[in-house]
Parts: sequence; structure tokens; C-alpha cells
Amino acid sequence: MQNMKFLVVLSTLSFILPATLAAQTERQHDAHEHGVSELKIAIDGNLLQIELEAPGSDIVGFEHEAEGDEQKKALQTALSNLGDPMRIFDFPEAAGCSVTASKAAFELEHEEEHEGEKHEDEEEGHAEFHVSYSLTCTSPERLTNIGLKFFDLFPNAKEIEVAAVSGNGQMAAEIKQDERIIDLSPIITPNMN
Ligand SMILES: [Zn+2]
Repeated sequence: MQNMKFLVVLSTLSFILPATLAAQTERQHDAHEHGVSELKIAIDGNLLQIELEAPGSDIVGFEHEAEGDEQKKALQTALSNLGDPMRIFDFPEAAGCSVTASKAAFELEHEEEHEGEKHEDEEEGHAEFHVSYSLTCTSPERLTNIGLKFFDLFPNAKEIEVAAVSGNGQMAAEIKQDERIIDLSPIITPNMN
């Protein structure tokens, strides 16, 4: 009987633990950290896909629906800047990149999503900018360094967490406000396309 009981306890634990871990991972993903944006870059042949998620506080200084003329104007300006990847990045001329699609949106988080979070402005909830770009580059092998104009436009942004992938592998980097370059050389080779 003793053994039986032990077995039951063990199997209960192994059932609970992964579920708890999964919940934590999900919560971490949902909660953004003010000052920190996330950038995903994928290079596939001549295709360059970019996704950016930035806290509202970093970009416009608020995380609720725009109220009043000043906030509405700030939101409009931010969306028009974010909607143009050439204002956010400085792609190497030699890479020959041109924009084929871009999308920028300001998204308010749902109330239930920050249950259990400990943000100082929790009562206000959170909001993020979600941005995506598609570009084609005639010479993707020249994309070793992408310049960042993001921090000049949005001084409240302090850091960008970059995850990048190409046919040659993947990499991650943290770009601080005083750095203005994303070094993609670990995933760039002379023959990309
Ligand atoms: Zn927030």
C-alpha cells in the first residue's frame, strides 16, 4: 500500500509541474517589460521578414486608448513612423532591399491577460505596438549590419531583444539604446540566394 500511495503522489506531481511551467512561460510571454521591445528577423533567400513588438509606454507614453487631441496625434505619428521600415531601420544600400508590405497596429491587452502580473500600472492595463514588414533584398548576403533608427524616434525605448533566423542558423542579441546596429553576421554567408 505504501508503494501505491507513493506512485499516486508521483504521478500527480508530474502532472502538475509541466502545467505550472507552461502557465508561467505563457504569462512571461504575455507580459511585456517597459523599455524592452522584441524584434524577430527572418531571412529566407531574398525575403526579409521583420516583426516588432513594442510596449505602448516606450512609443507614445501611454497604454490605453488615445484620449484627447495630443494623444491621438502622438498615436497617429507613431503609427506612421512604425509603418515605414525605412524610418525604423537603416538597411545597407548594397543589400538592395525594398518594402513589399508593412503593417503597424496599436493593440490594447484584454483585462484577463494581466491577471497575476505585477506591473506598477496594472490598473491601466497594457498596450503594445505590433508591427510587421516584408521586404525583398537583391543581395541578402550584404545584410550583415542593419542600422537602427528606432531609438532616435522613441527615446523611451531602452532595449531591443532580437531573434534572427536564416537558412544558415539562428541567433539572439540584446541591443541597448546606445548601440545602433544589429550585427547579423553570424547568420549571413556569402551565398544567401
Ligand atoms: Zn505595459
